[in-house]
Amino acid sequence: MNSILQNDLNNFENILEKAKQQGINFLNNIENIPTSNKTAIDTKRNLNALGLGSEKALQEFKERLAPLLVSSSGPRYWGFVTGGSTPASIVGDWLASVYDQNAQSVNSQGGNSALIEFETIHLLLQLLGLPETFLGGFVTGATMSNFTSLGVARQWFGKQFEKDFAKNGISETINILTATPHSSSVKCLSLLGIGSQNYRIVKTLEGNREAIDVLDLEENIKKLNGEPFILISSAGTVNTADFDDFEAISELKQKYNFWWHIDGAFGGFAAVSEKYKNLVKGWEGADSITIDCHKWLNVPYESAFYLVKKEHLNLQIDTFQNSNAPYLGNALENFNYLNVLPENSRRLRALPVWFSLVAYGKEGFCDIIEDSIELAQHFGNALIEEGSFELLAPIRLNNVCFTLKGNENQEKTASFLSNLNDRGKVFMTPTVYQNKKGIRASFVNWRTTKEDIAIVIAEMKIVLQDFKL
Ligand SMILES: *Cc1c(COP(=O)(O)O)cnc(C)c1O
Repeated sequence: MNSILQNDLNNFENILEKAKQQGINFLNNIENIPTSNKTAIDTKRNLNALGLGSEKALQEFKERLAPLLVSSSGPRYWGFVTGGSTPASIVGDWLASVYDQNAQSVNSQGGNSALIEFETIHLLLQLLGLPETFLGGFVTGATMSNFTSLGVARQWFGKQFEKDFAKNGISETINILTATPHSSSVKCLSLLGIGSQNYRIVKTLEGNREAIDVLDLEENIKKLNGEPFILISSAGTVNTADFDDFEAISELKQKYNFWWHIDGAFGGFAAVSEKYKNLVKGWEGADSITIDCHKWLNVPYESAFYLVKKEHLNLQIDTFQNSNAPYLGNALENFNYLNVLPENSRRLRALPVWFSLVAYGKEGFCDIIEDSIELAQHFGNALIEEGSFELLAPIRLNNVCFTLKGNENQEKTASFLSNLNDRGKVFMTPTVYQNKKGIRASFVNWRTTKEDIAIVIAEMKIVLQDFKL
């Protein structure tokens, strides 16, 4: 064994202790670590011939690399839809690295890590109030969950014409209907060979809505003259967290032949709360659902899962089967995750979620969800009270979409935001909503409190003064 490696091995406990200390220093100080910074490094570092060993590497990380990193898991990072990580989720994540399993199957790799994944999916179905008619698995993010789901949908579409697209390629025009798809679903259409422009946009409801107009959906369906199609629907659009009407879509499902996919990356968690679960009423009728865990479930990146109805397992295997490896046996009899999703080798991604669910239970997550929604409303009220802002859409859930009041000021929104973000106390994302430039704040982090909102409003006042607004 290389002598530096041998040294590290002998010193393992001490090294991990130091890494833990580095982590604790970050976590204990997270409220003071900026949400943005402009630190840079010269990335042309030479690879040293002789290794430094873990302790010295850690020292270099601390000095050179850590300053590049921001408190994106802290309480005032409201950009995109960015979750944090709870203590239990970090424990699970660390142990997933320590145990370093290749999570694939039951019994065939000598280990049974897939059982942990089955159990975690079973816990998630209970959290979300979904039936056991779904099979699920973990992927890196909602993008890959959409990819997995839409991959099976594509195979289903071919099957309607007795075609096997996975084997022979796409030979029919695939009909896709959607109202407000997330950009990642559009990317999936490109990856899946369907084409990122090859979908039909259905109208959204009148007024300040991003949800699908079900009457227009039915009009579009009729134009297809009985051809099958794939519907990509939303449980939580990113700008205004709007939800399609799943009960109405369920009724259409009785009348027409389509694959129904729901992207509920963050909005799916509305199901956890008695107060908000009506937003997803009827969603159990979908063929596939996407949910992110690294957003509202507050586990570290990369974590999301897909749910696909059990009845489609054959189609899923047709899509993802690693068919060139005969030693894997019959994919239906010997269930193996590598036959039902994009990756072959994969980490035990379920473990951080398992720890979180067991540690905090249904009530813990209900509190996180309801607190986030309350904070979004509190921030919205504070913005209106301040006087210089207006909401671009009602606050339906955890996202606040707003802009500077008055048409003449609207143009200044982007520079206002970048000045605000540069101050490092809060981070929000620019957006465009109904042709207006806006700002989006998304509340998903378990650490955020009303004090954080007071800090942010004070910061916004300072920047407003700089702008003489
Ligand atoms: C965030 C998000 C995605 C993409 O998720 P990643 O985890 O970044 O891959 C997809 N759909 C919706 C609605 C999202 O909010």
